[in-house]
Amino acid sequence: MTRRKSTHQLVKDIQHAGGCSHPIRLRGEFVNLATGEVNERPLLVACKYRRAVICPACSYLYKVDAWIVVSTGLIGGKGVPASVSDHPRLFLTLTAPSFGTVHARRSDRSCQPGRLRFCGHGRSLACSRRHDDADPEIGSPLCDICYHFAGAVLWNAESSRLWNRTFEQIRRRLAIALGVSFEELSQHVRLNYLKVAEFQRRGLAHFYVVLRADGPGAPFSPPRPDLTTQRLASIIESVVKDFSVSGPRGTVSWGQQFHLADASTLSRDDLRIAAYLAKYATKSADGSMDFEQRFRTRSEILNINAPAHLQQLALTA
Ligand SMILES: [Zn+2]
Ligand SMILES: [Zn+2]
Ligand SMILES: [Zn+2]
Repeated sequence: MTRRKSTHQLVKDIQHAGGCSHPIRLRGEFVNLATGEVNERPLLVACKYRRAVICPACSYLYKVDAWIVVSTGLIGGKGVPASVSDHPRLFLTLTAPSFGTVHARRSDRSCQPGRLRFCGHGRSLACSRRHDDADPEIGSPLCDICYHFAGAVLWNAESSRLWNRTFEQIRRRLAIALGVSFEELSQHVRLNYLKVAEFQRRGLAHFYVVLRADGPGAPFSPPRPDLTTQRLASIIESVVKDFSVSGPRGTVSWGQQFHLADASTLSRDDLRIAAYLAKYATKSADGSMDFEQRFRTRSEILNINAPAHLQQLALTA
């Protein structure tokens, strides 16, 4: 009888932890509300880790939640009115600048085509190969002496600050465009966004941002009619193009590859955006376990089985 009861409890514990791969074991006292009886027993709770390589079950839950948050924020549902579909909504892709020529796989599958050219170290800066998508060489520099590893590490470290300052500047330009002071802007329009970072094969973060303009007052109220999607898009574009942030460690700015899409066109497109953001919210830096750990020594970095340029970035950091 006791055995059957404990098996039942075990199944309940696993269910409570949502099938988590690394549940956290807590000790606690449980009060039976009917009898007042107090029992002390361990309880398994989910780790809630969002990286799929660490915990597939918790990551899956996070991914579904992220999908729901983005899709309802764009087209309504689950308490969000469908009228948000009439608000200006944009999908931005922000990239890092170049820190040197790297092996790539472009849409036409070329790498670095063109006439043969060499760097000061006598290495070729052209590559006529067509890399397979799984080729670990993609993202690695054509000359690892020329490549500015320190600049790449600095950019990753400062990229969140760069976005925060860019967003502030967008709001400042928006206030000017609407003819109000920066302090008064929230009484006219509110910009809500969700940002997800993905690491490119070259080891640099790039950001996907989904952004919606709301009116002041009640949540999800419509913005003033003179704030159109096109107007907001041109303000964002003008800010991102030449915005930079300077600090004691140097200056960082956005890369040339900036993409801005009107998210209010098709509902099917909106859901593709939601799937995109949910996917990258749960992906690890390079899709493996290699960088999902804290390194204490240089030899720990050298012992992982990762592409050489990613190891070099970690060593530089
Ligand atoms: Zn888990
Ligand atoms: Zn190549
Ligand atoms: Zn070189």
